[in-house]
Amino acid sequence: MRRSELSSRLRELEQAGLIRSRRRIEGPQGPHLRVDGATYLAFCSNDYLGLASHPALADAARRALDDFGVGAGASAHICGHTRVHEALEQRLARFVRLPRALHFSTGYMANLGVLPSLAGPGDVIFSDRLNHASLIDAARLSRADVVVYPHGDVEALGLQMSEQADRSKLIVTDAVFSMDGDLAPLPQLLELCEHHDAWLVVDDAHGFGVLGENGAGSLSHWGLSSERIVYMGTLGKAAGVFGAFVAADADVIEWLLQRARTYMFTTSTPPMLAAALLAALDVIETESWRRRHLTALIERVHAGLSGLGWRLLPSATAIQPLIIGDNSEAMSLMDSLRHSGIWVPAIRPPTVPPGTARLRISLSAAHSDQDIDRLLNRLRAVAPGQPMADRPST
Ligand code: PMP
Repeated sequence: MRRSELSSRLRELEQAGLIRSRRRIEGPQGPHLRVDGATYLAFCSNDYLGLASHPALADAARRALDDFGVGAGASAHICGHTRVHEALEQRLARFVRLPRALHFSTGYMANLGVLPSLAGPGDVIFSDRLNHASLIDAARLSRADVVVYPHGDVEALGLQMSEQADRSKLIVTDAVFSMDGDLAPLPQLLELCEHHDAWLVVDDAHGFGVLGENGAGSLSHWGLSSERIVYMGTLGKAAGVFGAFVAADADVIEWLLQRARTYMFTTSTPPMLAAALLAALDVIETESWRRRHLTALIERVHAGLSGLGWRLLPSATAIQPLIIGDNSEAMSLMDSLRHSGIWVPAIRPPTVPPGTARLRISLSAAHSDQDIDRLLNRLRAVAPGQPMADRPST
C-alpha cells in the first residue's frame, strides 16, 4: 500500500463501522474494571478462573523477581532457559498428561512455530473455517496448501481429505472456538487423522484450565490421547498470566525445540512469569470450586438469555455470544450497556465472519450470581422482544 492510500483506507474502515479503539484500564483485572474514573461490571476478559489478580500468583512472581531479576536475557537456546522455565515445562506436560512440553512466549507464537515445523510446501493443512487468526497465519507461513473445511463438518472434511490421498496431512482446529464458544468434534477429527495418517493440531486456548479433569483441558474432556496429537495451550487466559505451551510426544517436542523459529529466535519470557504460572497450576488443581462456580454461572447466563430474541449459539462454555448481525447495531448495543455501567465487548469482522457481529459475553469464576443477574436484567430491558421505548437508540 502507498502512503497516499492510508487515509482513505482508514476512512473506509470508519464508514464500515470497523474502527477499533482501546480503553485505558486502571488497576488489576477482575469483574469490576476501572476505566476513565468509572467502574464497569465487565464481561470482557478470558480470565476464566479469576486468577489474573490472584495473590498467590503475584507472590510467586515477586519471589522469582528477587531470585532472577526481570529479564531472561536471551533466547532459550542461548542462556534464557532457567530452572523455573524447566520446572514449568515438566509440570505442564504432567498437567495435560502428555510426554513432554515446550513453553512459548504466546499462543500466537506457538501456533506460528508449530505449523511450519510440521508442514511445508507439498503438504496439506486442513483448517476449520472459524479457526483463530494465529492458526490461519501459521498455515500461510508454512507454505503448505491450505484447505478450509466448513465449521465442525467432519463429513465434508473426510471427503476433502480423501481427495489428497498421497500427501502428508495435518488437521488444525481450535478446541473451543474463541468467538462462538462451541467445541470442535475432536474424537471424530482424531479418527480422520488415524484413517488418513495425519497430525491433529489442537489449539486449546479456551479449554486449558477450564475443561476436563482438574482443568487438564479438552483432551481430558474428550478422553483422548494419541501420538498424532499436538496440543497447544495458552497461559494468559484461564491460567491468568501470559504465554503458551505445546505438549506432545517427546520426539515432536524435540523437533520443535530444534526447528520452531518462533521458539528459537525470540527472547525467553521473564522467569517471574513462569513462577507465577507454577502457582497458577497449583490453584487450578486445588481450587476446583472455581470451575464448579463457573459452570453454574454459564448455566445461569444461558438460561437467562434464551427467549430474549437474539440468536444464541450452542455454547456450553464461558464464551456466550449474542449474535446481532449488523456492525453498528452491535456497537450501539455495547454502548447502551456501557451507559448502564456494564461492559460487554462487541466483536466485528474480520474477527468474525461478515454479518455476524456480536456481543461476546465472557464469564469468569470471579463473577457473582448478582453480577450475572445485573447483566441479564439490563439485557432484558433492551432485548429485541421488548417495547421500543426501552431499546437503545442507535
Ligand atoms: N488461539 C486462540 C484460539 C486464541 O483465542 C488466542 C488468543 N485470543 C490465541 C491462540 C493466541 O494466544 P495468545 O494471546 O497467548 O497469543
